[in-house]
Amino acid sequence: MARQSLNWSSPFSTLDEDVFYAKVSPSALINPRWVDVNESLLEVIGLPLDFDNPLTLDAFSGGSPLEGWDPIAQVYSGHQFGQWAGQLGDGRGLYLGECGGYEWHLKGAGKTPFSRFGDGRSVLRSAIREYLGSEYMHALGVSTTRALTLVASDTPVQRETLERGATLTRLAKSHLRIGHFEHFYHQNSHQALAELIEFAISQLDPDLNELPDRIEQVFARYIDRSAKLVAQWMAVGFVHGVMNTDNTALSGETLDYGPYGFLMAYRDDYVINHTDQAGRYAYGQQPRVMHWNLGCLAETLTPFLSVETLRALLNTFPERYRLHYRLEMAGRLAVDPAHEDLPELVDQLKGVWSKNGMFYPELFIALLDESFKGLSRPTAEMIVPEPLRALWESMAESSQIEEARAKSPAWMLSHWLLDQVIESAEAGDYAPVQSLRKAIHQGIGQPCDVATKLGDSPPDLNSAYHLSCSS
Ligand code: AMP
Ligand code: MG
Repeated sequence: MARQSLNWSSPFSTLDEDVFYAKVSPSALINPRWVDVNESLLEVIGLPLDFDNPLTLDAFSGGSPLEGWDPIAQVYSGHQFGQWAGQLGDGRGLYLGECGGYEWHLKGAGKTPFSRFGDGRSVLRSAIREYLGSEYMHALGVSTTRALTLVASDTPVQRETLERGATLTRLAKSHLRIGHFEHFYHQNSHQALAELIEFAISQLDPDLNELPDRIEQVFARYIDRSAKLVAQWMAVGFVHGVMNTDNTALSGETLDYGPYGFLMAYRDDYVINHTDQAGRYAYGQQPRVMHWNLGCLAETLTPFLSVETLRALLNTFPERYRLHYRLEMAGRLAVDPAHEDLPELVDQLKGVWSKNGMFYPELFIALLDESFKGLSRPTAEMIVPEPLRALWESMAESSQIEEARAKSPAWMLSHWLLDQVIESAEAGDYAPVQSLRKAIHQGIGQPCDVATKLGDSPPDLNSAYHLSCSS
């Protein structure tokens, strides 16, 4: 494996085994095959991995780890749907170590001490959704984990129906979650918690390392990053679906692509996760939920900071969110963020989204590019009412239109498109996955034939589409 001797390190393993993690041997899938390898990401991080080598496929499908990998399962806890859920942890994913500026995590490689009643597997359906979803979000300019490899297999995996096992390699700046801090706080292990906080600072915010007020400062950063992330989601119409504290990263990256989705018409009460009957994680609730999750994080810092300090910082969230949302929308509309009519423009746009039956992301491009015809639904008319167009034209900065246009998708990674891609892949045809991944990296502002062809039968705009949490 000479070509594969990469520069691996494993910072998380410097923490105490058994307190913070367990070493785990992955378990191999039966008859694995590559569905896709994300060459664009590989190029960016400049890794000389040989994907034609059978040992590479073996490693990325839960077989013998590559030289330098140090597979471990991390322990964390969390609040799920507002309730304390106790210990969770990596039940079907393994931290492999760090390389190329990212932590590598192999999802679906078998049971760990934290699997509870689960089988440690991921199914192809959900691995495809995460693979394409995270890359599409990255292309939209949203902070997110990335996806590097996708492997299918013949391993039977029981969900509502019998499916097949798959693995996905996820790359993240950090996999630390609010739930990591919660785990040690709720166990009353304040010494371990203090160690973990120092570790988190050294990983994500090393410039704060030596400062006496570093915990206060890092909490302020977690608040700001989370406010920015949720503002990005709201701007692109992304619904996470399971914003539990164990799925909320301290890095401000979108983490855990379960039952996620994009808005069709603009609707604050849009719910994607069918187990979420109360609508806790509806699109319009996301800023409030992020604030609530940060409240859980604040509680874990009470051994180190006064309640007054924590409360004062936590109270900055709504304002930070409003600021980031304004910046996001301004950037996507090519308008000066300080323009006094921006809130009015955004309100009017929301009105059009909710009435005219446009898909949420399409309205940006309908303004920014008059030649655009509405690729997600080639038959629909893209109408922006004249007064609204005139208002936008009076505000837009021509020098910023090109940049805004580049971030505006000309096609949508809709749930009905994903359903088609998944159906093909389950029948052994991986070409649509590969084509969409390539189209994402060539620029989502460009039309994509495969998306047009496979995504041309949207359901009724107000139809309920609920995804199962099972993955
Ligand atoms: P999620 O809903 O994917 O965020 O998962 C919540 C918790 O359940 C995490 O601790 C996961 O590792 C665990 N989990 C989810 N699915 C499985 C599975 N198939 N096998 C083992 N653990 C799982
Ligand atoms: Mg999770």
